[in-house]
Amino acid sequence: MVSSSNSIHVAVLPGDGIGREVIEPCLAAFDVLAGRIGGFSLHYEMLEAGATVYAETGAALPDDVVKRAEVADVMVLGAMGLPHIRYPDGREIAPQIDLREIFELFAGVRPVKTFPGFPVPLSDPKARSVDFVLIRESTEGLFASRGKTDMTGDDEARETMVITRKASERLFDFAFAYTRSRCERLGTPGKLTCVDKANVFGSFAFFRKIFDERAEGFPGIATDHRYVDATALAMLRNPWDFDVLVTENMFGDILSDAGAALMGGMGMAPSADIGMKHALFQPCHGTAPDIIGTGRANPTAMFLSGAMMLDWLGERYNSDKLAEAGRLLDAAVRDAFAPGDLKPCEVGGDAGLTEIAGRVLDNLKGLGFRR
Ligand code: ATP
Repeated sequence: MVSSSNSIHVAVLPGDGIGREVIEPCLAAFDVLAGRIGGFSLHYEMLEAGATVYAETGAALPDDVVKRAEVADVMVLGAMGLPHIRYPDGREIAPQIDLREIFELFAGVRPVKTFPGFPVPLSDPKARSVDFVLIRESTEGLFASRGKTDMTGDDEARETMVITRKASERLFDFAFAYTRSRCERLGTPGKLTCVDKANVFGSFAFFRKIFDERAEGFPGIATDHRYVDATALAMLRNPWDFDVLVTENMFGDILSDAGAALMGGMGMAPSADIGMKHALFQPCHGTAPDIIGTGRANPTAMFLSGAMMLDWLGERYNSDKLAEAGRLLDAAVRDAFAPGDLKPCEVGGDAGLTEIAGRVLDNLKGLGFRR
């Protein structure tokens, strides 16, 4: 909990690969904001987990790391997993997924919002103003079978989709409340779309039924349903029509990478994993083994996830200062790209971590943006 001195205990899990690289400038940004805005301070507890820790100790997520993270006010994570370090059954090390389950971080919030001045893959001018949010259930769905594959010799592998009423109700209640506060903020009517495959699977018909039941508690918010395949098509054809989408774990995993592509790449896409008691903020991307140590890692997604963290803390602790810090960090990142000359490697440019982070931190230090 935040103490009387407004000092916030942040559990920092840098993880592996470029996770370790992008987290440093993000912490630097928090410190600049705390110094400039005042009224709060952050203290960091560095916690080691991930593939490298697994290789060294045999435990990917040591018990004491979970205990320390549990008493923190919030968690921030770089990225975890490396393709050459695996469990004996061949799966990659993914403690970030364990953390979602342990702390019941059921709502994976993934904003898809393009940046002024930044190249986008779709040619329609409307693609420059895409702004929607994907909410991914993060504790069950097809991921519930993770690590429990039912193998029959070398002939058959079975994994089971799990949709429970409890997890679905809390997911939809969160998604409706999120949509309501987003439309109040943006001054838009607000629409929540349930993405499923209810035409084929009973589990998704159940998911959709619970969505419709929970919608009755939020009469001001328009709703609709889309099948996941039709959603994939629309994400490439008319993504500017979406507002908030809510879906199952595996579908959310896949669609959120498509969302990242709409923004210009994995390095641009932030995320938050929210539960009733805990929250964790991390970029959508992984450890990017192909660019570790090259200086090419784009810290934008990490900065934006950090902005989401400050915003969440502001709401949780009723602090205007923290909320202001979140808004400023988000604005500083968007302003850094506005002139159009900052092009990360993913879009064919040569701006790497130092240049992008430098631009954002300079913006924050001056708190006077170019626009
Ligand atoms: P995972 O499989 O866990 O998702 P990954 O790093 O292999 O992890 P992605 O995160 O999907 O996969 O990233 C795919 C590729 O996108 C990376 O290999 C890298 O080339 C690029 N990429 C991802 N994040 C960044 C980033 N922050 N900056 C620059 N390039 C990135």
